[in-house]
Parts: sequence; structure tokens; C-alpha cells
Amino acid sequence: MKRIAIIGGGISGLAAAHRLIELSKINQQPIHLTLLEASGQLGGTIQTDERDGFLIERGPDSFISEKPEALALINRLGIESRLIQTNEQYRRSFIVNKGHLIPVPEGFQLLAPSRFWPFITTNIFSLSGKLRMAADLILPRKDANGRDDESLASFVRRRLGREALERMAQPMVGGIYTADPEVLSLRATLPRFLEMERVHRSLILGMWRQSRSTRNQTGVSGARYSLFLSFDKGTQVLVDELQRRIADFRSPLSDRLRTEVRMNTKVRRLEQPSSESSPWTIVTVNGETIEADAVCLALPSYVASPLLQHTAPKLSSQLSQINFASTATINLAFRRLDINHKLDGFGFVVPLIEKRSLIACTFSSVKFPGRAPQDHVLLRAFVGGALQSEMLELDDNEIVNRVESDLRRLLGVTGKPLFVEVSRWTNAMPQYEVGHLERVSNIDLLVSQLPGLALAGNSYRGAGIPDCVKSGERAAKCLME
Ligand SMILES: Cc1cc2nc3c(=O)[nH]c(=O)nc-3n(C[C@H](O)[C@H](O)[C@H](O)COP(=O)(O)OP(=O)(O)OC[C@H]3O[C@@H](n4cnc5c(N)ncnc54)[C@H](O)[C@@H]3O)c2cc1C
Repeated sequence: MKRIAIIGGGISGLAAAHRLIELSKINQQPIHLTLLEASGQLGGTIQTDERDGFLIERGPDSFISEKPEALALINRLGIESRLIQTNEQYRRSFIVNKGHLIPVPEGFQLLAPSRFWPFITTNIFSLSGKLRMAADLILPRKDANGRDDESLASFVRRRLGREALERMAQPMVGGIYTADPEVLSLRATLPRFLEMERVHRSLILGMWRQSRSTRNQTGVSGARYSLFLSFDKGTQVLVDELQRRIADFRSPLSDRLRTEVRMNTKVRRLEQPSSESSPWTIVTVNGETIEADAVCLALPSYVASPLLQHTAPKLSSQLSQINFASTATINLAFRRLDINHKLDGFGFVVPLIEKRSLIACTFSSVKFPGRAPQDHVLLRAFVGGALQSEMLELDDNEIVNRVESDLRRLLGVTGKPLFVEVSRWTNAMPQYEVGHLERVSNIDLLVSQLPGLALAGNSYRGAGIPDCVKSGERAAKCLME
């Protein structure tokens, strides 16, 4: 029976474990699977709580339907009926501009407009800012092959100008990655815009052509799901179902499949096999050793790095070079009549030049049903990130004071929240800096020289839930082979 250990019980590790169970059944290959998790619960960043009738997402609140891996997993788990879509009536978001919430112009996709009239009439940009953005229509491509990596800031300044960067790209894209656009790799995060420049030369032209063809396609078939999806009882549903499926096979009756989930088991280091036929040795912080024929490290790269320091120093060093940023989510419960704003959108983002404490805020109970009782509202604010790391140095009370002060000014909040939940996420957001994909290729090469080792997680090829599922399932396939 092949012994496989997965270290890390976040969504990446859970997806890897589940896929291994599936593959073991498909290939009729007996395995003994051990999942080692440092904390007392599975799910890692995914954490949903219920309090006084509110459904609180401490980490992610949704995943995107455009990337197929999460949906495919959900189908195989048979929990598709528990999916919920966003409230289409309010499908738009706002951007803070000179202290006011302005709707993001219709057809604007992260960097550039795809529709003429909403762009012309928006007051997010000045007239000179709009003219500079329109210059994208006539500017040449950067170079013929366009293969160099480039930061988001450099790309947007070059094609659309400084105002487009400060007023739109920084808060929209920087907000998703909680990143500094001056170092964020466009190739690793939004390669479609580089591709657009290569194919169409102009981003605006590319966007316009793309939206025209999407409109034609949608006219024929219609998209099945909204862009963002969650579950009736939050993202935790996925974790709970995976946990149930993995634990299902704990029965010692099965001689083909044995699984073991060990919580509160933090791994300290990994020792390489002396020959290809001997096993890996996993050493926990308590000094316990566990042997495995194959190991998946489903951990943030900076956590995986020290585990490999002695056994694979070059790999360990590459892993340590991926930077992470910290953030905090602040869930605030209100009575509806204590907020003056109409809350007719999914939330807002805040450009750095607005000099606020908030970087973004989701109107959680507007975006998804079932997040707050009748006549109440749940808001979820974000602070910190690469550009405002000092916010995480404040204590919870001070963070809440600053968030409430911003909400009073921006949303016309008049009353005190019924309760507030602060969740700190220290070094939880990987920063895909310029050169990231090259580093990941180096990491892949070094891993391929260590038979029986695989990496998974948000540090490499995407930080969203579907990316993590993909990375876990890819690692499972590697280990099974
Ligand atoms: C605030 C926030 C909001 C987000 N919002 C979204 C969103 O809306 N949509 C979306 O798609 N994505 C979102 N993301 C990103 C996404 O949630 C994460 O990228 C993803 O959940 C990471 O999963 P993971 O399994 O790779 O890592 P983690 O969730 O970090 O799991 C790693 C696990 O390893 C364990 N561990 C650590 N060290 C050890 C050790 N030495 N030994 C054993 N175990 C160890 C940890 O306890 C943890 O359980 C968000 C992230 C954050 C922080």
C-alpha cells in the first residue's frame, strides 16, 4: 500500500486528498493517506461562522465560476444544489472618488472600458485623464514578441496613463491581490491584457471586440452561473464536504484505502529518502516521525521553505523568495436603517490616493442571500495589504475605529454596529511580483528532481479557490504517478 502524506489542510491540501482517493479508486491502486494539519480545524483561510442570524465569512466569501476546477469538484461531490449566485439586481460595484462612491462604468473590466458611453459620462476620470486613456487606441505595441514580464503599474501607465492607474487599476487589481502595482507581475496575474496588446495592439479595441463577441455568444446560450458563486451556508460548505468525504475512508475494513486526518500536528522538517526506494521522513514539532513514499506540501511557500532547508536547500531558497502581504477582514453587522446609502451594488474599492484606512468593502448581505436577518445588513471591510501594511500593527479596537470612521463618511452610517468581528490574515496573500512565473518554473524544475515530492497551494499559479483546487489535484496526479 503506497503511503502518501499531505501536509496542510487548507483547500489545496483537501483537494489533493480528495483527488488521491478518487484516483486510488479509478486506478485500483491501494493507498494509505495521511493529512497533517497544524491547527485544530481544516479549511485554512476558508472560515465561515454564524452569529445572531448573520453568516460571517472571515476569509474568502466566494469563488469565480469562470475557472472550471472548483465547479467540477463541486459537481463530483454532489453539492451543486447548495450553490448560490449573486443578487443580479445589484450587479455592480463602486469606486471611491474624492470621498464619494461612484459606480464603476458599465463594461469597464479592471483596466479598460469596453463600452463608449458609460466611459465618456463617468466622473471617475478627468477630461484629460479620459483623453489619455483614449490614446491607447493609437499607441503602438511595446514590442513584437511582448514576452517580457512587466509590472501592472508600468503597463497601465504606458497604455492608459497615470490617472487610469491611480483611479482604477490600483484599487481594482491591487485590491484583489492586496498588492503594490509597481511590482505586481501582469503576466502572472492578468496575462489576458498582455495578450490583448499582442493581438489587438489597443486594449480598448481588444475589450470592445471581446465584449461584442461575448454578447453574441451569450445571446445564443446564456451563462449558466453568475461570475461569483458561494454556498447557502458559505464557503465552509466545500471544506465540510471534503472533510466528510476524506474521513469516510477511515474504516480499517478497507484494505485498498486508508485515510487518516491528524489535526494539531505541525510539521517541522522533511528528510529526503536516501535512495529512490526508501521513504520520506516527516518530523513534527513534537519530534514524532512519520514515513511516507510520497509527500505533498500544501502550504504557503514561506512555510514550506524551512521544512526543506536541509534536504533541498536550493528549492528552499527559491520558495523563501515569494513575498506575502497581510490583511484583515472586518465583518460589521448593522440595522438597515442605520445606513443611509442605498447599498445598490456588491461593494466598493478605495484608491490609495484617497488616503483612507479601508482598501475595500463588500456589501455581503446584498451580494448573496442569507447573510443577514431581515432589515439588517452585513458589511465586510478589508484593510492592510502590501500598500498599507501599517494597519496590521494597530490593535483591533483602533482598526475598528478607523473602519467605522470611513464607513460613516462613505456610506452615511449613523448607528453603531450590532457586533464586529476582526479576522487577521498574517502573510496570507502571496505577491506575484515581476519574474514570478520564471521563479515558479525554477521551483517546478527543482521539485521534479525530488521524486515523490509535490507542491500545492496559492503561492504558485493562482491564489483563488479554483486555482488552489487545481494545484491540489495536479499534485495528487503527480504523486499517484
Ligand atoms: C482575507 C482573504 C480573502 C480571500 N478571498 C477570496 C475570495 O473571495 N475568493 C477566492 O477564490 N479566494 C480568496 N482568497 C484566497 C484563498 O482563500 C486562498 O488562496 C486559499 O484559501 C488558500 O488555500 P491553501 O490551502 O493554499 O492555503 P491555506 O488556506 O493557507 O492552508 C494552509 C494550511 O496549512 C496549515 N499549516 C501551516 N503550517 C503547517 C505545518 N508546518 N504543518 C502542518 N500544517 C500546516 C495551516 O494551518 C492551514 O490550514 C482570500 C484570501 C484571504 C486571506
